[in-house]
Amino acid sequence: MQGYIDSIETMGLVDGPGIRMVVFLKGCQLRCLYCHNPETWDYVHSKIMTSDEIADMVKNNMSYYKNGGVTFSGGEPLLQPKFLIECLKKIKQLGIHTALDTAGHGIGQYEEILDYTDLVILDIKGITNEGYKYVTGQNLDEFNKFIEVVKQKNKKLWIRQVVVPGINNTVEYMKDLKKYLKQFNNIEKVELLPYHLYGVEKYKKLGIPYRLDGVEPLNDEDMEPFYAILKD
Ligand code: SF4
Repeated sequence: MQGYIDSIETMGLVDGPGIRMVVFLKGCQLRCLYCHNPETWDYVHSKIMTSDEIADMVKNNMSYYKNGGVTFSGGEPLLQPKFLIECLKKIKQLGIHTALDTAGHGIGQYEEILDYTDLVILDIKGITNEGYKYVTGQNLDEFNKFIEVVKQKNKKLWIRQVVVPGINNTVEYMKDLKKYLKQFNNIEKVELLPYHLYGVEKYKKLGIPYRLDGVEPLNDEDMEPFYAILKD
């Protein structure tokens, strides 16, 4: 089974515990206003690899990954479910930890995907239909289907929320986010990611209008009051 890959990072340190191979899959149906990987949206310039090739890369670097693992990211990794399941199964057979870095907007087969996933790193794009649609262009229905399965299976979660001026950098939003997250029983970590401008040049190169032009970036210190609300 072949998959469409954007890139592979062999020494990832942030997308899950330990040293990880991070496989960035192509394709995404969302169009987040602040996306810094617009080159992953479609399948143009994909590197095509088989699940065996991915598993071989893991086998060849077992000394690194045995205490870390492999993370599938994107784009949206849920959009290639058959390939993803094959990869996850083969990696689990090697006894390696698996994680999924996802916005939860795929095309189904969530049960089987999560059967072979140890950790879900879940990107929250909005907690109301209106807010979600404003950021992504889509409604919450598919995301809600995914999180229902995450909850049923009681998967370990790392929550990620990008904080963007004019969209969600308010005390009210963080209080609402805190209430929203109470539906999950297995959250290990919540990360607030300050809005940055690293992706802006990519939009110019791709000839795609950047819709947050003029919005100022935030820094880690700006996140402190919001963390205080979430911890409280
Ligand atoms: S889900 Fe991720 S890859 Fe897709 S548009 Fe949003 S930020 Fe970009």
